[in-house]
Amino acid sequence: MSFVTESPVWRPFTQHALQPGAFKIARAEGAWLESEDDRRFLDAISSWWVITHGHRHPAIMRAIREETERLDQIIFAGFTHEPAEALARRLVALTPPGLDYVFYSDSGSTCVEVAIKMALGFWRNRGDSRTRIVALEHGYHGDTIGTMSVGARSPFNAPYEPLLYAVSRIPFPTRGREQETLDALERACGERPAAFLVEPLILGAGGMLVYGVDTLKEMRRICAHHNVLFIADEVMTGFGRTGTLFACQQADVIPDIACYAKGLTGGALPLAVTMCKREIFEAHLSPERARAFFHSSSYTANPIACAAGLANLDVWATGEPAARVAALCDMQAKRLARFADDSRFSNVRRLGTIAALDLNLAQAGYLATVALDLMRFFNERGLLLRPLGPTIYVLPPYCVEDAELGLVYEAIGEAADRFGGG
Ligand SMILES: *Cc1c(COP(=O)(O)O)cnc(C)c1O
Repeated sequence: MSFVTESPVWRPFTQHALQPGAFKIARAEGAWLESEDDRRFLDAISSWWVITHGHRHPAIMRAIREETERLDQIIFAGFTHEPAEALARRLVALTPPGLDYVFYSDSGSTCVEVAIKMALGFWRNRGDSRTRIVALEHGYHGDTIGTMSVGARSPFNAPYEPLLYAVSRIPFPTRGREQETLDALERACGERPAAFLVEPLILGAGGMLVYGVDTLKEMRRICAHHNVLFIADEVMTGFGRTGTLFACQQADVIPDIACYAKGLTGGALPLAVTMCKREIFEAHLSPERARAFFHSSSYTANPIACAAGLANLDVWATGEPAARVAALCDMQAKRLARFADDSRFSNVRRLGTIAALDLNLAQAGYLATVALDLMRFFNERGLLLRPLGPTIYVLPPYCVEDAELGLVYEAIGEAADRFGGG
């Protein structure tokens, strides 16, 4: 059976009353998922943005198998192991200069929580109790209570609102109105917050909203000027998604703290890191135990996940992913061009390998269910796409072929015929 309906599994971000079933996937390879009865789906969103090179990259799979011959989970306080040590050294060399320390965890949400805790610990240990976080409107940083707090408030987190802490929110830098964002950041920084937390160049779950390199640069400058820590959430943007290995590189921005997760193992296993500057680590050095950084996950620096991370960096070192990313950027630009002047779409946009466009709906009544309707429409055509409301985005693994991408854009055109209005 390939469509599961009777199941004790409670799935993420799923209204079971409207989506009682799920496709049961038995095999994955490259850009494709395959069900038990041989239905195939082109994974055009990289299985929720984690798969970079393609499913089951051979070198990463091999590294995982080999590491299982040596280690499983090892306590990471007082003990360490070569996969974690080697991966940390490699990451320090690869990421923007100055990010000299690596704290391991296991998900995007957790590595952002760690970043926020590092920032607050930094100020407290320096005798300056700054606790407020500044964040961008429409931002998304995870689904834990702490990361929901810094993320955009929406119907998705309304039930938890009483538990969410207050943050200073500045407007998203819409094209032509960037100065309003910068002015708001300047004002917020004047109130001595602990840190500014931001997704560099593109807000993912907020709707694939793109903003410019100059704005990112300016935001970084303002934070430095006011001595406010700058935290880059590169959980989605990291590992090639925006065309460069990391989005911050495009703006020559060096964050004080950076969060990486989704593509760190090529998407094979859960692993995340929070990297920080020396002064943040050193602010936690003291003869007093109370000044230590109190955080741990049970699976901190899992050796098998670290081995997958190392194999992923070896794959990047071949130069092949960078070439594939460059080719994918061109393919996306070319495919997207056909919709640039199509009145059924607005905000046709691309950042690196990510393409997005907003469908203008034929009937206002579609709005409530459009994301689900579109998802089903694409699923029936053998495509895994998961629109954010009326925003359709294409975020494929880097192995995708131009002809495969053609199938995706063909279906987007058909979806516009069905649901779109000019
Ligand atoms: C996905 C995402 C997260 C959360 O990552 P999880 O691994 O799902 O917890 C945080 N920040 C950004 C920018 C993300 O895209």
